[in-house]
Amino acid sequence: MPIIARSTADEQQDWRQILAQSLKTAADVRHYLSLPAISEHHQQQLHQASQQFSVLAPKPFLDLAEPGNPDDPITRQMLPDRHELLTHSGYSTDPLGEVATNVQPGIIHKYQGRALLLAATGCAINCRYCFRRHFDYADNRIKHSQWQTSLEYIRADTSLREVILSGGDPLMLQDKALIPLMEAIETIPHIQRLRIHSRLPVVIPQRLTHDLQQHLHHTRLQTTLVLHINHANEIGPLLRQHLPDWHNSSVTLLNQSVLLSGVNDDLPTLLDLSEQLFANGILPYYLHLLDKVQGAQHFEVSQQEARRLYQGLHAQLPGYLVPRLVQEEAGMPGKTLLSMS
Ligand SMILES: *Cc1c(COP(=O)(O)O)cnc(C)c1O
Ligand code: SF4
Repeated sequence: MPIIARSTADEQQDWRQILAQSLKTAADVRHYLSLPAISEHHQQQLHQASQQFSVLAPKPFLDLAEPGNPDDPITRQMLPDRHELLTHSGYSTDPLGEVATNVQPGIIHKYQGRALLLAATGCAINCRYCFRRHFDYADNRIKHSQWQTSLEYIRADTSLREVILSGGDPLMLQDKALIPLMEAIETIPHIQRLRIHSRLPVVIPQRLTHDLQQHLHHTRLQTTLVLHINHANEIGPLLRQHLPDWHNSSVTLLNQSVLLSGVNDDLPTLLDLSEQLFANGILPYYLHLLDKVQGAQHFEVSQQEARRLYQGLHAQLPGYLVPRLVQEEAGMPGKTLLSMS
């Protein structure tokens, strides 16, 4: 097996080059992280799991994991697990009913006043718990010509106030494509807010380019960047270096997490996450319960346990550091807020 060198933290390197160097097999990830040997049969199972949902592990994110530890919270999110092969009742391939709310390719309009524009397909990482692991990206492959139809939809519906760029991961677009798209949105008079949901800056912090920051800082729209960080270890040195520029701009920084068994389902981890987010200028926004997607059952945390953890956060943190505990349910007019009782 070839030796894969650990990446050097070269901030000057272009994010797309770094993305291209991502690891794409379970064996490569295991080797890169010097994980203990597993049986031939186990290797076969991981290979099979990767055929259902491919492996994509960017090096800057891998470098935040502790080598040799298969239970590391970062490793668990990237490395296939043989439990993915099990099927469970109550777990589906489209848990959010998105197929039905996909009003036209490229737009998901489910909630009042806000529409998701699928700006890019694919992500810079394949998170093993992802509810989109079965989403038909082939049918939603966004061609730039399709943006035109999405923009017309948004222009025609004057009840919309906010456009949420989503995907896949919208920051998979290069700035030279993304900035013109945002400029087109700015020309729609009833749109006041622009939100970007992305995990890319967490897994490849070099994606937080100066051009993007400047555009979001100067646009007439109120802009929010919602990062997706599940564990404080994901806020590495490179991300810490990039964040102050953003924090000091007019962009609001929020975070959403997914409550994941074996990653962040204990109180000290969640307390530390909220503290570390705020120390870096990011406010906790959502703590999601796992969407019940086939192949992710081993990440499930029960509702009862989730409420217990939430009560712990509430008891120990100022209100603004307690994320909203939510669950997405097909057909509901918004995310379901789980109360404390
Ligand atoms: C989460 C989500 C939104 C945004 O909801 P907020 O409560 O504004 O954060 C919009 N549309 C869809 C389909 C969503 O899943
Ligand atoms: S970045 Fe988000 S959408 Fe992409 S695989 Fe991870 S959880 Fe899913």
